[in-house]
Amino acid sequence: MKYIDYLIVGSGLFGSIFAHEATKRGKRCLVIDKRSHIGGNIYCENKDHINIHKYGAHIFHTNNQIVWNYINQFSKFNNFINTPIANYNGEIYNLPFNMNTFSKMWNISTPKEAFDIINKQRAIIKQPPRNLEEQAISLVGIDIYKKLIQGYTEKQWGRPCNQLPAFIIKRLPVRYTYNNNYFNAIYQGIPINGYNTIIENLLKNIEVKLNIDFNLCRDIYTNISKKIIYTGSIDSYFNYQLGTLDYRGLKFKTYKIEQENFQGVAVMNFTDKNTPYTRIIEHKHFEFGNQPITYITKEYPSDWKIGDEAYYPINDEKNQNLYKQYIHLAKSENNIIFGGRLGEYKYYDMDQVIQSALNLVDIELN
Ligand code: UDP
Repeated sequence: MKYIDYLIVGSGLFGSIFAHEATKRGKRCLVIDKRSHIGGNIYCENKDHINIHKYGAHIFHTNNQIVWNYINQFSKFNNFINTPIANYNGEIYNLPFNMNTFSKMWNISTPKEAFDIINKQRAIIKQPPRNLEEQAISLVGIDIYKKLIQGYTEKQWGRPCNQLPAFIIKRLPVRYTYNNNYFNAIYQGIPINGYNTIIENLLKNIEVKLNIDFNLCRDIYTNISKKIIYTGSIDSYFNYQLGTLDYRGLKFKTYKIEQENFQGVAVMNFTDKNTPYTRIIEHKHFEFGNQPITYITKEYPSDWKIGDEAYYPINDEKNQNLYKQYIHLAKSENNIIFGGRLGEYKYYDMDQVIQSALNLVDIELN
């Protein structure tokens, strides 16, 4: 008997929003998750009254009014603004690339001086950028590329910058003003009382089963469900029959430190190539905590294999082609929809995930 209208596989933002909206419209939903908690990668663990971003720092930012209004129904946000610091062998620079960065790098003070230096340095790139290295040099010149981009990026992605797609570096703003706000976003902040509140509110009164790996017991669940919303990776659903989509993995090491303030900022990037981690997150600063102790997390990019948590899709040509083949395969299946960062194999920020879920709600439920 198919008495469940929607089986939602994965309780991250995408799955939880869909479940919430479907339930609101009278549909019977069941949410399952293979982890022991809800929330996917935005889940936080509270220790000593500090929310630890267990799957990497999540800073909400958006220019999308609809998304902002939507998410504010489930939590209000504080006024945290991400102003990360780059640490290059002990030299400290502001991010994103702005007049503070340029001033420290070249001991200059005006936008014109910065522009002239960058213009001279970018002249070595004569053609439209074909990869991340050429894109970075043409945006900010060779000095910043060498000290603040190359080491960090090669650690992050595990391959040389000239073999990476240019779009990754375009995520970062370049500004000729003294503005350290990492994001060009009208709205930004951390949910008051943490991300878990959002998911708990979305899933209020919805049946959720944890510690269930859909792919290990799919018959049980497909037999009772009319339709499936699958937020895991699309290749895992098809048992990797066409090959494996690549991801970049992350490992985290979290430490409690008997000190009130460890690094004075929430996010410090280590941009040299020898430090094995890319960043240290000091979680209390996301919520302006004044506890006598602190928690920090070192973030180590790592190779990924099936079974590891998948963090970053590798959106190069090979993987995009494979993804398209899976989409083609999916068209032959009835009653399944793929969504979210993994399901759509996209380097989505949280606001884009929310928009994508709302788009699906429009198509599927209205
Ligand atoms: N990046 C860099 N140096 C930095 C921070 C970022 O070169 O100090 C580059 C790097 O290639 C990274 C990309 O910018 O992959 C995007 O950074 P973002 O902070 O958006 O990455 P995320 O927060 O998604 O890990």
